[in-house]
Amino acid sequence: MSCVFCQIIDGSIPSKAIYQDEHCYAFADIKPQAPVHILVVPRQHIASIAHAEKDHKHLLGHLQWAAAEIARTKGLSQGYRTVINTGEDGGQTVDHIHVHLLGGRPMSWPPG
Ligand code: 5GP
Ligand code: ZN
Repeated sequence: MSCVFCQIIDGSIPSKAIYQDEHCYAFADIKPQAPVHILVVPRQHIASIAHAEKDHKHLLGHLQWAAAEIARTKGLSQGYRTVINTGEDGGQTVDHIHVHLLGGRPMSWPPG
C-alpha cells in the first residue's frame, strides 16, 4: 500500500496518536502551519471528498465531530479552523481524505 496515511494508520510509519476511535485516527502534521496542526483521517481509504459516496456521509460528519472534540481537549477556546483540501486546485497533496485542525493563532481570510 503506497498511501502514506494508510501506512500511518496501520503503524508501518510511526506516529503519535492524538485521538483515535473505530472510524478515524488523528496525529500531528509533520509540517505544522499553526501551533496546533492535527490531521484527522478516516481509517477507510477514500481518496478525497470528491470520491466520497452517499454511504460515507456519516463518516465525513464524524471526522468534523472528532476535530471539534480534539479542539476541546487542546483548549482551543478562542477558535480554530478545520480545512479539507480537495484535488489539485484545492491544494490536496495526500490522496486520502483528511481534516486539518489548525489553531493556536488567529487565522486570516481569504486563504491563499
Ligand atoms: P494536503 O496538502 O493533502 O491537504 O495535506 C497533507 C498534509 O499531510 C500536509 O500538511 C503534510 O504536511 C502532511 N503530511 C504529509 N506526509 C506526512 C507524514 O508522513 N506524516 C505526517 N505526520 N504528516 C504528513
Ligand atoms: Zn490511504
